[in-house]
Amino acid sequence: MQFNELNLSEELIRAVDELGFSEMTEIQAQSIPLLLQGRDVVGRSNTGTGKTAAFGIPAVESITDDDRRSPVVLILCPTRELAMQACEEIRKFAKFKRSVKACAVYGGASMERQIMELKRGANIIIGTPGRVMDHMRRRTLRTDNLRTVILDEADEMLNMGFREDIEAILADVPEERQTVLFSATMPPEILAITEKYQRDPVQIKIKSSQKTVELIEQHFFQVAMGRKTDALKLLLSAYSPDSAMVFCNTKRMVDELTDELAKSGFRAAGIHGDMKQLQRTQVMNSFKSRATAILVATDVAARGIDVSGIDTVFNYDLPQDNEYYIHRIGRTGRAGLAGKAYTLITGRRQLSDLKDIARYTKAEITELPLPDRSCIADIKKEKLTLEIAGIDERPDSGAYEILDALAAKGIDSREAAARLISSRLRTELAGLPEFDMPKPLKKGSRSGAKTVRIDLSIGRSKHIAPNFILGALVDATGMTGQDFGKIDIFDNHTTVEVPEAESDYIIDSTNPMKINGHPVEVKLYKGGSSKERPYRQFADKRGSGRKFNDRGRKKRTDIFGDSIPDRRKRPKKHH
Ligand code: ADP
Ligand code: MG
Repeated sequence: MQFNELNLSEELIRAVDELGFSEMTEIQAQSIPLLLQGRDVVGRSNTGTGKTAAFGIPAVESITDDDRRSPVVLILCPTRELAMQACEEIRKFAKFKRSVKACAVYGGASMERQIMELKRGANIIIGTPGRVMDHMRRRTLRTDNLRTVILDEADEMLNMGFREDIEAILADVPEERQTVLFSATMPPEILAITEKYQRDPVQIKIKSSQKTVELIEQHFFQVAMGRKTDALKLLLSAYSPDSAMVFCNTKRMVDELTDELAKSGFRAAGIHGDMKQLQRTQVMNSFKSRATAILVATDVAARGIDVSGIDTVFNYDLPQDNEYYIHRIGRTGRAGLAGKAYTLITGRRQLSDLKDIARYTKAEITELPLPDRSCIADIKKEKLTLEIAGIDERPDSGAYEILDALAAKGIDSREAAARLISSRLRTELAGLPEFDMPKPLKKGSRSGAKTVRIDLSIGRSKHIAPNFILGALVDATGMTGQDFGKIDIFDNHTTVEVPEAESDYIIDSTNPMKINGHPVEVKLYKGGSSKERPYRQFADKRGSGRKFNDRGRKKRTDIFGDSIPDRRKRPKKHH
């Protein structure tokens, strides 16, 4: 269905046309006609499917010349960015409609400016629940003439703890009104709000198998723990996206990763909820204008951010929730354009979590190998060739003068060009992380290989068993149990025999590490005091606690009756 099939005013048709919209998305086709009739609607549709226009177009259409004095439409959004973004889009719909005055109100910005704008006769108010409440309390936002209240991203507003504010607002606006709710998911809390505050709402549910998500190419890379940042740098260098988002699970990680990327020369910036509004706006503007190529974000800060032309989404951390995965990758492939989503995973557990996500989202997420240096070099060569071939300005005479001068020194044009090109290639490849994939140790190749011991800052006093240690090491390094040798558990620390060649890698990938909830530090073992004995030997000496396990083999236990690592289970070559 096309926008011009709706009975919209001339002004709106023109505005929508200028935006380049012709065909409505599913959620728009189903909800706009109902909203124009004044019906209450609960709309569920994935992110990126055009919900803003779905409620924004009818809102703008509903404004008449009589509405010049006070708010008639109130739109609640979870974050400042979303409020600003929705306000901008609504102003675009209202481009040819003089009677519309849209105003965004959100926390972290000047109250006075917002009050001024409200006083000047704003009639569509877009705001975050907290700041809207604030204005209502101060009576700087009058609600007596409100006809429509719209909750955008309702699920996220509830997640963010806005439930009380939302209920207070809904209880305070005229009863005779239209109430509209849009959300990407429908948890029971939303249904409760629907029942309480909507009148005979029409439910619209668009199936989650959206075209937009299908257009996104999805891959994953297996990375050893502790090497994700290097892997990301490698991928960013290899694919050099013009505009990419990188998702982390915590604000701290956003800060750390942004720093790390900036240090390596990437045009990266971070965004999360702890940042000042001004800073966030600057970051968003810089990202929109492509001055920032890489935006590192948390889920909440990025929710609903609509920047067109994001070519790649990276999941630096695996999302904590299946829905988050959809939200994240929905930042790319918007409005029918193709996009890519790359997920970094470490360890077997994350691999199985990702398989869950693929099952849930019915997506095909395939593994790719990390590109190596020579592969990246090839990409760069190709790019540079295209770049040079694409220069269509004539070189100026100065260039030829230099070539002549060089020729006099015995450097011909070919040699001169080669020197310049290779210096460019070197800069392009500089700063690429040295990235050796963790090689699983080949069996047998280690016989006679030198071993060293690593030291873990956890011991018997924390009631750990050898299998906890081994499990954690395997998980952190991606190596196999066979790769580790003798494990000696002491009171407050544990030593593990490892191949010397891998010890740096192991120590790197295990810091930080947690075992049984305890943070554990791992370093090279420098040898302890000679008096110190692991519990195993202590128990041996006492000759106590010998038991038989179910295989009929002698199973040794320590003085607590816990089993002790049995060196016979480990490959002989380690000892
Ligand atoms: P949602 O709120 O569902 O996540 P948005 O309202 O942010 O989605 O819209 C996503 C993008 O799609 C925006 O860039 C918007 O301008 C564009 N868009 C919306 N409707 C259409 C349409 N009918 N045709 C083309 N592009 C559209
Ligand atoms: Mg939206």
